[in-house]
Amino acid sequence: MLSDVMRITIQTKLFFSHFAAIILVSGSVGTYFYQSAIDNLTQALRSRLQNSAALVSQGLGGINLDSISQPEHRALAVYQKGVALLREFVKANPDIAFIYVMRKTPQGVAFVLDSDTDDPALPGELYPHHVPALLEGFIRASVDEEITQDRWGSFLSGYSPLDAGKRDYLVGIDMYADEVESKLKEIRIAGMLSLALSLILAMIFSRYLSANFTQRIVVLKNRFATIVPGEAAEPMADRGDELNLLAQSFDQMATRLENNRQEIELNQRELRKAHDELEQRVKGRTSELLLANEKLHEEIAERKRIEEKLEEISRIDYLTGILNRRAMTQLLEEMSKEISNGAESFCIILVDLDHFKQINDSFGHDVGDQTLKHAVERLRHGIRETDLLGRWGGEEFLIMSPCTSLEEAQSLAERLCSSLAGSRVEAGSDSVAVTGSFGVSRFNPGRDNLDDCLKRADDALYQAKSQGRNRIVVDGIETA
Ligand code: GH3
Ligand code: MG
Ligand code: MG
Repeated sequence: MLSDVMRITIQTKLFFSHFAAIILVSGSVGTYFYQSAIDNLTQALRSRLQNSAALVSQGLGGINLDSISQPEHRALAVYQKGVALLREFVKANPDIAFIYVMRKTPQGVAFVLDSDTDDPALPGELYPHHVPALLEGFIRASVDEEITQDRWGSFLSGYSPLDAGKRDYLVGIDMYADEVESKLKEIRIAGMLSLALSLILAMIFSRYLSANFTQRIVVLKNRFATIVPGEAAEPMADRGDELNLLAQSFDQMATRLENNRQEIELNQRELRKAHDELEQRVKGRTSELLLANEKLHEEIAERKRIEEKLEEISRIDYLTGILNRRAMTQLLEEMSKEISNGAESFCIILVDLDHFKQINDSFGHDVGDQTLKHAVERLRHGIRETDLLGRWGGEEFLIMSPCTSLEEAQSLAERLCSSLAGSRVEAGSDSVAVTGSFGVSRFNPGRDNLDDCLKRADDALYQAKSQGRNRIVVDGIETA
């Protein structure tokens, strides 16, 4: 707010400084000429008064005025003659008010003659005022330093001794102060007029100069403010001064800036192009990578499927579709470990088909295979959900029954044995009876290992065979 109030434009400053300079110079010069004019006028008036007094003094040169000293001497011829001479002179010079002759007396300065017709000073009348120039006038021509006022009015007076100062007489000439004042007034008016003219001219010149200067600054400012890339700057009159140099420098700077801008724009365009290309390449590479990744995932999935298949194949018996010996052994090992850690124990049931060789021999290998599949179906339907069935050898199968006691395993084996024995396998127009022998054992945690348990089951199976087949033998240790 304060800065707004304080802000003074360059134009204003320039105007006032220029105006002040002109006023100072013209004032000084004017004062000098005014003073000179006053001095000249005063000097001219003084000379005129002196010369006139001297002239009148010469005119009165031959007249002896000694006889005139009293008011009644006005009747004397010499008085009449002298006054007539004075009045004639006044008549010839309208700006002169009075002419008089004075005498120096021991009492003071006294009038002798007076041209005044209305209120003439009487002969012998003393002049009551002390005027230095008047006293000097008895010796040499002199003029009042300043306007003197007496009962006749205000005058500027000149004095000249009569007969070159040999006698004590002088001639005095009064010029009306009004006259002097009017002449001085003329000079003053002329001075005032010239001062007013100076003021007006100074104002006009200062205004023109400041406006002209600041107008060009405004042009420069507009150039700075409105410069637009690619557009020509506002034209500026070439006057070959500093402002033109400034404008030239600005144009050069603007050109350089424009060049730089274009260069930056070009670089940015190229950068954008490179960026776009890079983005395209990245996109291309990304989609390639995505495709490759997808393919890789497919390959991995395929490989996994194959591995799973292989794993399955490696675990499954190709003929019957149940777990093979390898898979069963693995499961048995895992189960035996679990049991060692406190889980409830499991039972093993070994099944061997009776006289299977004879079936092969009698009906062929295909019927043998059919018999194997048939036996598996019977066993699979006979076991519980938690039980696991696997092919242990050629015509030998193993059932693992988790969390099962020997008694439970025994009854399961009995059901399976009955189921098998009650079935037949189609062999062309004939059919074949199928039976199996069963050996049952239970894994004893802490007492035996898996091989021990398997061996006991095998032994039991062997006993079942020995005892006539199509029967069950439970591990002797358990049943004992
Ligand atoms: P036992 O009652 O004492 O068990 O007599 P067995 O004839 O069943 O026993 P053996 O061990 O003498 O004979 C088993 C036969 O099983 C021998 C073999 O050729 C046959 N065999 C093994 N695997 C297969 C197979 O996958 N398919 C066929 N068809 N026969 C098989
Ligand atoms: Mg066998
Ligand atoms: Mg057999």
